[in-house]
Amino acid sequence: MTYKVVQARLGEILRLLEDKAFQKALQDSVGNAEGKHERVAASYPYLKELAKKVKEAEEKVLADLDHYIDMTIRSVEKNKGVPHLARDAEEARRIVLDIAGECRGPIVMSKSMVAEEVGLREFLEGEGFEVWETDLGQLLIQLERGRPMHTTAPAIHMTVERARGLVRERLGLEIPEGAGPEDIVAAVRGFLREKFVAACLGISGANAVAADTGAIVLVENEGNIRLTTGLPPVHVAITGVDKILPTLQDAVAEALVQAAWAGLYPPTYLNIIAGPSNTADIQHKRVYGAHGPKEFHLILLDNGRREAAKFEPLGEQLRCIRCGRCQWECPVWQQTANKWGGPVYGGPMGMGWTAITYSMREAAELSLLCLGCGRCDVVCPVEIPLSRIIRWLKTRAHTS
Ligand code: SF4
Repeated sequence: MTYKVVQARLGEILRLLEDKAFQKALQDSVGNAEGKHERVAASYPYLKELAKKVKEAEEKVLADLDHYIDMTIRSVEKNKGVPHLARDAEEARRIVLDIAGECRGPIVMSKSMVAEEVGLREFLEGEGFEVWETDLGQLLIQLERGRPMHTTAPAIHMTVERARGLVRERLGLEIPEGAGPEDIVAAVRGFLREKFVAACLGISGANAVAADTGAIVLVENEGNIRLTTGLPPVHVAITGVDKILPTLQDAVAEALVQAAWAGLYPPTYLNIIAGPSNTADIQHKRVYGAHGPKEFHLILLDNGRREAAKFEPLGEQLRCIRCGRCQWECPVWQQTANKWGGPVYGGPMGMGWTAITYSMREAAELSLLCLGCGRCDVVCPVEIPLSRIIRWLKTRAHTS
């Protein structure tokens, strides 16, 4: 049996190991991330119990996924939002295109791995729209024409020099030679402010979706999500069906756990969005379209998730809250970042996600590069059996 994917990827990885700038940026980022979660966990002991509750809530949904999808759809409708269930990436892209319609201004996006999964930005650009990522790391990825190297920190492979160069060359912003991150952030803030105000459509992901209320929860630090979801007249949230939790309380808990295991706790902002903006200030009659968006759409993406939910151990990957903790901890990922992975998801969590959303064969071959140390199992807040999933995939590399 030949392993074409692994052979091709090994060449790329060997080149990366020699890439001094990539390795310096990655090693600095890994060093900066080290111990962050441990310090958060020591300061806020309740988080461990909260993670346990999130795991229980996730298990409940996965055992009856279709029921919770239906409940979410009904709840979003009750809030005067528009729910969509997309079978695959193509359907999700078409739904967004229909909504964008005659949209004449820029489209602003906040970071979403599901948007990456369906290739949404590139698709909309190809359809002639002006599209901007508003998360700084994700904007750098857009400018580089690359892909995210970590779930919560997409541009960890870039040095300050590289980030500065991209912003200067591709956005034409004046940033002095030798300027640091603060100057880059300030310049990008000025550039994006105009895009937020002029945008005809805002696209976000969702950390969690509450089936009981139809509310989505988004956690962030930059403040770009509040602007993306609050300023344009139309807001589209796109996320996987795996992000559904039974209640709003569970959904908020998931977002807090995600922030804590990402090492960024407390999160600066927690957004809850349940439908279009509205007011009942005149004679207590509800009117839609106040200061925020007039329209709210929620796209729930299947793309292999409902099928995967039926299988052990792969289905367990669907409980992943994308905190990225397993990536920081993995000795292979620490050298390669998401170059060890499929087209979107990389590192330990990326094996299962690639199998579910992209290609079982590709995931099976990529899993052969795992050293089997098991550190990912130990650090995952919701106890996803990552090494068991990877071992299962390895057996498929030899049999499929
Ligand atoms: S598998 Fe676990 S540790 Fe890794 S990103 Fe998902 S939730 Fe976080």
